[in-house]
Amino acid sequence: MDKTKMDKKAILTCIDENRASFEALALEIWGAPELAYQEHEASRLQMEFLRQRGFEVTRKGDMPTAFMAEWGNGGPTIGILGEYDALAGMSQTVSASIEPAAPKAPGHGCGHNLLGVGGLLAVCAVKEALAAHGVKGTVRYYGCPAEEVLTGKGDMTKAGYFLDGTDVALTWHPNDSSSVTAATLTAMVSAKFRFKGISAHAGGAPEAGRSALDAVELMNVGANYLREHMVAQDRLHYIITNGGLAPNIVPAEAEVWYFARAPHDGELASLWRRLVKVAKGAALMTETDVEIELLGGCYNTLPNLVLNGVLEENLCGFAGPVSYSEEERRFALEIQNSLPAGQRDAALSRMPEGSETLLNATPLPCFDAGRFVMASSDVGDVANIMPTSMVWAATWPLGVPPHSWQAVACAGSSLGLKGMVLAAKTLAGAVYDLVSDPDIVRRARDEFDARRRGKTYRPIGELLSSDDAK
Ligand SMILES: [Zn+2]
Repeated sequence: MDKTKMDKKAILTCIDENRASFEALALEIWGAPELAYQEHEASRLQMEFLRQRGFEVTRKGDMPTAFMAEWGNGGPTIGILGEYDALAGMSQTVSASIEPAAPKAPGHGCGHNLLGVGGLLAVCAVKEALAAHGVKGTVRYYGCPAEEVLTGKGDMTKAGYFLDGTDVALTWHPNDSSSVTAATLTAMVSAKFRFKGISAHAGGAPEAGRSALDAVELMNVGANYLREHMVAQDRLHYIITNGGLAPNIVPAEAEVWYFARAPHDGELASLWRRLVKVAKGAALMTETDVEIELLGGCYNTLPNLVLNGVLEENLCGFAGPVSYSEEERRFALEIQNSLPAGQRDAALSRMPEGSETLLNATPLPCFDAGRFVMASSDVGDVANIMPTSMVWAATWPLGVPPHSWQAVACAGSSLGLKGMVLAAKTLAGAVYDLVSDPDIVRRARDEFDARRRGKTYRPIGELLSSDDAK
């Protein structure tokens, strides 16, 4: 298509003129946080919003809070991934000191109230631009539940999403700085190990009992010894979800919930095999039985440098920089000062020299190529199905980690909203470029094929429980 037919700057105007209703939606979702798979209101609001703006919404499988919204015809099909789930126990008001809105209630500690709506704003702006100029191209918004438990997108692929003809996927995530990422987020598996023993009077007849809690403890000891012989980037973390009912009853049932992470799916399969052996060993030692419930997991992300280039140009040269008011800077400083000592400096040490130290107003060129981020995202599943790229946008001050009360406070403030709008402009500009020049999409596909080396996608649960993982 002829690039000159479409005025790219019109996208920025469209976003600036329409941002208020999207910002209100992001704050509405922030004010009513919902946990993974329970995002009924957030998904309903988003579907309604998109239908009203001419998108066709479809839903697949047995996932009431997942959906896909589409507009356009022909041309490349570009998908934007959105999320909207919150985190347990993270309730917080817009305040620079700990102040839950409701004790123990959920809160948007990962800024997903912004993440989803930022994607919505991007697809709506792109739709306006394409419609105004009669340009061929299709834009999709994927409403993705349950990112916080890292199984939403894997479940969506099982329901038929993503394997539905989308050419490339783009997404963003709230962060303390703005840049495209070429780092790899780790592959991850979530599983519950349920041990079953024999109950007995702990004082009167201990010899008759077989403690399921002993098995859990021995499994954890074994897993902690395993740490010495893992790949440096492997991670194991667990919580005991059932440790028995009373000290004077030998626990007949006990359960421990593990997350295991590894740089790539192959290393994860190896770590998983060894963890299963540790569990079976604990059962053998304690004469208990173990039942393993593999809850799912996600793939490591796969960078796509072709798409990264497009996102970076749009982040640094089209969408940014952001300007902050004095009041916003004061709030940011209070938030930053509430962090544990050294946290801001540790964050700064990972940033390029000369970076801004309070708020990252000027987006940075990509600086994390080759690094592993010791966290996971189910975006990894999509990244193993199609070329995918992600951009960070600054929604809180430098040093603020996700899953903190400070992140919740900022995600409900104008700092968060400014990051969301920056992300929306970046994504919309990138979609414009991809639709204008389908050759970029072809090159992104070639890079993806080279990185996947002919492997076909299977959900991580299937991969790990298959014979080749045993
Ligand atoms: Zn997140």
